[in-house]
Amino acid sequence: METLESYVAGAWITGTGKMSILVNPTTEEALAQTSTEGIDFARAVAYARAEGGPALRALTFAQRGELLRAMARILHANRDALIESAILNAGNTRSDAKFDIDGASGTLAHYADLAKELGEQRFLLDGDAVQLGRTARFVGQHISLPRSGVAVHVNAFNFPAWGLAEKAACAILAGMPVISKPATSTALLAYRIVKLFTEAKALPDGVLSLVTGSPGDLLTHLGGEDVLAFTGSSDTGKTLRLMPNIAGNSVRVNVEADSLNGAVLGPDAGPGSDTYNMFLRDVARDITQKAGQKCTAIRRIFAPASVIDQVRDDLVDRLRDAKVGDPALDGVNVGPLATAAQLRDIRAGIERLATESKIVIGGTGDFEKVGVAAGKGYFVAPTLLVNEAPDSARHVHDHEVFGPVATLLPYSGKADHVIAQVRKGRGGLVCSTYTDDRAFTAEMIFGIAPYHGRLMFGSEKIADQAPGPGTVLPQMIHGGPGRAGGGEELGGLRGLAFYSQRVAIQGARPILEAVLGAKKS
Ligand code: NAP
Repeated sequence: METLESYVAGAWITGTGKMSILVNPTTEEALAQTSTEGIDFARAVAYARAEGGPALRALTFAQRGELLRAMARILHANRDALIESAILNAGNTRSDAKFDIDGASGTLAHYADLAKELGEQRFLLDGDAVQLGRTARFVGQHISLPRSGVAVHVNAFNFPAWGLAEKAACAILAGMPVISKPATSTALLAYRIVKLFTEAKALPDGVLSLVTGSPGDLLTHLGGEDVLAFTGSSDTGKTLRLMPNIAGNSVRVNVEADSLNGAVLGPDAGPGSDTYNMFLRDVARDITQKAGQKCTAIRRIFAPASVIDQVRDDLVDRLRDAKVGDPALDGVNVGPLATAAQLRDIRAGIERLATESKIVIGGTGDFEKVGVAAGKGYFVAPTLLVNEAPDSARHVHDHEVFGPVATLLPYSGKADHVIAQVRKGRGGLVCSTYTDDRAFTAEMIFGIAPYHGRLMFGSEKIADQAPGPGTVLPQMIHGGPGRAGGGEELGGLRGLAFYSQRVAIQGARPILEAVLGAKKS
């Protein structure tokens, strides 16, 4: 069996001791093993700070962008082999794997383009100089420059390629070296990617390290100059935030956590309309794509009570067409969940939801899987529930079931009613609304925007072109308040802020202009 290594302090190292096993979630066969025992994480952190940081800070934005461009090209050139790894270890269908891998190369390429626009600078002026004194000679200028430590990235199991790349793109462009830790269960793809980068010598020493397995004491070595970006469950996010050195040294932390994303069908978007069909397409896609293991997937579907039966029947028709099975086979569009633990959690989650909602398709029983040996694999049927008492329901607004599962809820057709229900998610990554009515759009924006990181409005005019709410785009921010972790990533150049120190510089205008290129107030 293949043993995965970690790449730290400029070298590939095999851990010792007890190995964690990575499995194929379709067959349950062991694929690879890994351990990080014996790895000197203090040295790994020190090396990234001492080697990777200075190497990046010596480069201009344009030069850092060339590194990102090289990374994107490597992913693209090895796309087919990477897709195979994703199918094997993450249970991705070919289309799911492309979503992850092309998302990774696309995000790197997007940041490479932004870098080109930033050109030959090494830091950014933040706004114009402002006059502070009696005369225009005394000014203040804000600048943003790279933080001097290391960026540690802890990622979830569901996007091993994109998760690594989207965080690394922002950090490297901002000028911070990265230590990336993928979730152990699906680490094969991230491992293959970083192997490709090191074989091609794509990055200066210390710029990107990889921890393939348990983080050991890695996070205890972080100090005030470092940052930690975490994606995963709220519980782990909370544990990391409360670590004594993280809290005590004010280590900057970004958390991307759970979310009970809503999709709202507007009262005007009647069955048969383009907007209605877009709503059905996005909901069905989010339930089935990546077997529902997307942080942005729609979990709560709100439809006016007057059309709820029609919506239920139309969604059931679409979900009935979904082929679940071996993700390597053509025609299969729903693969397995990533791990046995996920299978247990999702089944328990469906049962919990079913205490107050009715299962209309799917559920926890046995069902037909294409090309899968009897009794094998971590499969769950696409599942739709209907909750007829959303005002008193609890679990549907409170418990994220991270699989191919969503619940349909009726509302009165009035914006204030559905806004109150959406808000019960207590902070989300994204909410989508399907309407061509401007007044309803305005009510939704101002009613739910403060509770979300992103809102998507589907309408007739964009029905044929908009990617659904589940697609995170590098141009737009990703993250959300409250339950969603309170974090923010991406959003074009906004994504660099987390890795940068903003400083106010006050002094004599001619000197600051000479040194910083500060503009006059
Ligand atoms: P998880 O158990 O919290 O694990 C996430 C990551 O944290 C993994 O890399 C895990 O490593 C690591 N980890 C766990 N305990 C740790 C500790 N004490 N110290 C340091 N690292 C630790 O979450 P999950 O079950 O893999 O992911 C599913 C959750 O992620 C879902 O709830 C989903 O909503 C959320 N998610 C959010 C987003 C977003 O962008 N907001 C995206 C994807 C997923 P090991 O694998 O080695 O244990």
